[in-house]
Amino acid sequence: MFNFDNIYKTLPSSLFTIQDPIPVKKPKLIIKNRELIKELGVDNIDFTQTLSGNKIPNGAEPIAQAYSGHQFGHLNTLGDGRAILLGEHVLSSGQRFDIQLKGSGRTPYSRGGDGRATLYSMLREYLISYAMEKLNIPTTRSLAVVSTGEDVYRDMAEMGGILTRVASSHIRVGTFQYVAMLGNLETLKIFTDYVINRHYPELKSDINPYLALLKNVMNKQIDLIVDWYRVGFIHGVMNTDNVSICGETIDYGPCAFMDIYNPKTVFSSIDRFGRYSFENQKNIGGWNMARFAETLIPLVDNNQDVSLSLINEVLSEYKALFEDRWNVMMASKIGISNPTDSDFQLISSLLNIMEDNRLDYTKTFRNLILKDEPLLKDWYKKWELRDINKDLIIESNPAIIPRNFIVEHVLKEAATYNNLNPLNDFLEVLENPYSDDVLDYYKNPPERVDENYKTFCG
Ligand code: AMP
Ligand code: MG
Ligand code: MG
Repeated sequence: MFNFDNIYKTLPSSLFTIQDPIPVKKPKLIIKNRELIKELGVDNIDFTQTLSGNKIPNGAEPIAQAYSGHQFGHLNTLGDGRAILLGEHVLSSGQRFDIQLKGSGRTPYSRGGDGRATLYSMLREYLISYAMEKLNIPTTRSLAVVSTGEDVYRDMAEMGGILTRVASSHIRVGTFQYVAMLGNLETLKIFTDYVINRHYPELKSDINPYLALLKNVMNKQIDLIVDWYRVGFIHGVMNTDNVSICGETIDYGPCAFMDIYNPKTVFSSIDRFGRYSFENQKNIGGWNMARFAETLIPLVDNNQDVSLSLINEVLSEYKALFEDRWNVMMASKIGISNPTDSDFQLISSLLNIMEDNRLDYTKTFRNLILKDEPLLKDWYKKWELRDINKDLIIESNPAIIPRNFIVEHVLKEAATYNNLNPLNDFLEVLENPYSDDVLDYYKNPPERVDENYKTFCG
């Protein structure tokens, strides 16, 4: 059973609206995450009725959360337009999780939207978030997906779906932007103290907890994005409302993994100018942290000039911190644990060869030990002079990522033909992405990579 303790609901009421999920016609449980069910201790819930929103479980106090966000650089007032927070589930260890239904119907924040999601896109989030977790990258997790028995209309009629999302919280940079714009210092302080208490309790004793919060959130964001670079992940829509304050990957819309190494890669159909391309993710991460920092100005110091200079000092470290950690991560991908300057040249020359020759990002790194890529013959010679840690290569480079051609295949089978076998087989493979012990089908890029692959928000 859920063990709800809903503290968010005790915050100022401007931060949310009380709202039940809208019931659906004919819910059907499509997939559930047994491991997560066990971890949360919720084996005994009525999955179909509860996770479709048709039945409100004991202790739940459903709300839609308010937030804002810079969408492709433009600030908008948003909020949960198609999601409902059922409540905060607390384990006996004290660990706290948001339980959210996504695709659960209209709310006061829906604007023009229908409040729904397609079964296809909710299964996609289930699949990719599962892959991310098993790749050891911080992420929200997916408990289950139900189909609604109702059509949703995108380009055509599609089956509706609801995802149960489990997160350390759903507090975003955009939530801070929303609260800051309310213009009430007391509310901003209550909210920020709540976030510190929930996610960074060790900062309470810092001489300036708010400045420390900025530093900590920034560090987590850097670690997260560096991890995305490690596995070739492109989030696709790094708007400030899709940046979690606790450093989890959140909101799997048009995200995808890159096959051929090309730093300019963009998959999202709505990202026409490449704002969120693979290589831009690091810069956007810094831009997003600046937007976060702005919301803290009134809290960091009573004197605005002092506050700004303290904040700027923190933000100015972003670039160097990012580069340091990116360098260490990339060195680990080639099996070097204490990189020197000459190793960075080795890394950049490898990336140049990969880009010029359109090599596969995942396979090239994973197979370095085999030295079987003819185009890297000269590079291997220089690399061999170094002390190479093979275990480090294995643990830094997945053998398996959710490749687009397989993702599309298994989702089509599941969402269109009601055949869940390929999806379940794929999930089993994704459970151990650092193991080679699977069919080549899952490890290799397709014979012809679809470079025009496009992703959508469903
Ligand atoms: P996203 O781009 O998915 O992160 O969503 C941005 C904003 O649009 C959020 O406030 C969502 O709740 C809202 N939104 C997205 N899709 C829908 C929909 N179908 N109905 C209502 N709101 C939506
Ligand atoms: Mg309210
Ligand atoms: Mg979002």
